[in-house]
Amino acid sequence: MKKINYEEINIQKIAVHPFYRMMKVYLYFVDGVLVDTGPSVQRRNLIRAFRSWDIRQVAITHCHEDHIGMLQWVANNFSVNIYSHTKAVPTLNKQVKIPWYRGLLSSHRYDSKVIPYPDTIQTSKFEFLPIETPGHSSDHVCLLEPNKGWLFSGDFYVTPYPKVFSKGESIASYIDSLQKLGQYNFKTVLCAHEGVVPNGKEMMERKLDYLQSTRYKVIQLHQKGYTDKEIIKFMFPEKVKLELMSFGSFTRLNFIRSCYQE
Ligand SMILES: [Zn+2]
Repeated sequence: MKKINYEEINIQKIAVHPFYRMMKVYLYFVDGVLVDTGPSVQRRNLIRAFRSWDIRQVAITHCHEDHIGMLQWVANNFSVNIYSHTKAVPTLNKQVKIPWYRGLLSSHRYDSKVIPYPDTIQTSKFEFLPIETPGHSSDHVCLLEPNKGWLFSGDFYVTPYPKVFSKGESIASYIDSLQKLGQYNFKTVLCAHEGVVPNGKEMMERKLDYLQSTRYKVIQLHQKGYTDKEIIKFMFPEKVKLELMSFGSFTRLNFIRSCYQE
């Protein structure tokens, strides 16, 4: 676990799982706002970080375990508004429900609740604009601080050249969202798995170009009658590390199919 600072942002870098130390999660805390809560498997380490921060608002980028795993703990220990995509509100509210007996045992009233993102999240120094960015998941939201040029991108960026997708990922949604992001002014991407990407805007443009051209090539091959297996062999002949590390949750096949099925 490593603490880093970038401009006014506190960053906690931690392995996504103690057994997979190569893959990291980056948690961001800025002026009272915690962006995502990290995986529950890192509970002990993360609690230490959370206790050192004065968390006043929580912004959830999307509902994968490594982003919401510690949400319940945060809700139980801070009285905060938790913002998420409208779609995710009912599920997350079930998760943060405080058992009734807690009120009897503690003088502190915990009244954390999950609500849909407002138009902007205000803090004393900054404002954060939530931008719906489906692609990695349908409930994904990025946060833009327009004056600083920061874009908190959850799992939307990760790499400009993905070769594998999970079942929930959609290349058509990625392309739409990347075109939408292109209209905003930002410079630095704060990625949940890659950390600070100083030339973030340029990297997002590369991702858009790559996804558009790859999708085009895959559609051409598919229309010519090549099978998925042949297309994979032609486009991505080498095994991808994430495919092995994720035990098949992320595959080249999901990526190829997403190109021509939508
Ligand atoms: Zn994710």
